[in-house]
Amino acid sequence: LMSSLPSVQKVVLIRETGGLEVLRFEDNFPVPEISSDEILIKNKYAGINYIESYFRKGIYPAEKPYLLGREASGVVVARGDNVDKFQVGDKVAYLSGNTFAQYTKIAQDKQILKLPETTTDDHMKQYAALMVQGLTALTFVNDAYSVQKGDFVLLYAAAGGAGLAFNQLLKQKGAHTIAVASTDDKLQLARDYGAEYFINSQKDDILAKVMEYTNGEGVDAAFDSVGKDTFEITLSALKRKGTFVSFGNASGPVPPLNIGRLSPKNIKLLRPQLFAYVTGADDWERYSKEFVRLVDSDLLTAKIFGVYPLENYKDAAELMEARKTVGKLLLEIP
Ligand code: NDP
Repeated sequence: LMSSLPSVQKVVLIRETGGLEVLRFEDNFPVPEISSDEILIKNKYAGINYIESYFRKGIYPAEKPYLLGREASGVVVARGDNVDKFQVGDKVAYLSGNTFAQYTKIAQDKQILKLPETTTDDHMKQYAALMVQGLTALTFVNDAYSVQKGDFVLLYAAAGGAGLAFNQLLKQKGAHTIAVASTDDKLQLARDYGAEYFINSQKDDILAKVMEYTNGEGVDAAFDSVGKDTFEITLSALKRKGTFVSFGNASGPVPPLNIGRLSPKNIKLLRPQLFAYVTGADDWERYSKEFVRLVDSDLLTAKIFGVYPLENYKDAAELMEARKTVGKLLLEIP
């Protein structure tokens, strides 16, 4: 069956770190060969995430050439001899590297969802859109900090892809979300997805607003993906015994910290990544079931900002990094 597949494919990769100019679309990259425990997936949609910019800039290390992408939906086109969980023709959505490509290989026991044969094109988009950002929100509001009804929660980048997923799940848990975003239009969108309080980071004093909204107490938890620029503000905005979930570097990485800074208010500080919450078989089983339930019942939906041809990834990345996007950007794979 492998013989009916092409030997080369179209991909988006980097051969060196740098600005947008190092992004390359290539059309003669080898199609991976699968081992006995792996399947080969023909990708249909791949989700764009802010993390690609970290690999490109060198904030996160990667061996070159490095194929970008961390999630996709598509169809199984080949399987190894020992594969028993998937068949050729199965629709799937999955978490893995190297998805800005026509074909991706993955071991059958990794983070793969088998989707019903009846899955619509719209749901193929939703699954590609939500694997990273939806599962991040789901695992973080349960595992990084177990959000309780009535909690006040500070959420940055609240109209972004991850932000809109967090808004929906925080609302379902009965928390009061204080949304931070850079424009009033973005804040309006955060409201549509469940936020109750709003801070425009370009006009408002973030800390003063948090204190106003919480009667001077501060928040129970903060989900801060901005990193460097907001670390001190977030630390000050937490209440005594609050939880600081630092999970991104949109403004740059948080500099090294003297842990004594956490003592005055007995703050819990985490720096989690999605992957480490879903690599255990039990965790994946539990979270993937809940994730599918939420997506299939439209309790967790992605707002699709745009679907770009694979070869136009650079345009999408440029908009995203200029903070001109809301919700999710997808790539359509030829
Ligand atoms: P988004 O769609 O949220 O885009 C990033 C947003 O960050 C921008 O729209 C912008 O919103 C905000 N931002 C704040 N400061 C800056 C800045 N200095 N430069 C650029 N943007 C800035 O992306 P994602 O949903 O993909 O990811 C959101 C964040 O969550 C990222 O930091 C990402 O790395 C992190 N993340 C971490 C995961 C993990 O496992 N640790 C998993 C998934 C996401 P605004 O203009 O409103 O401020």
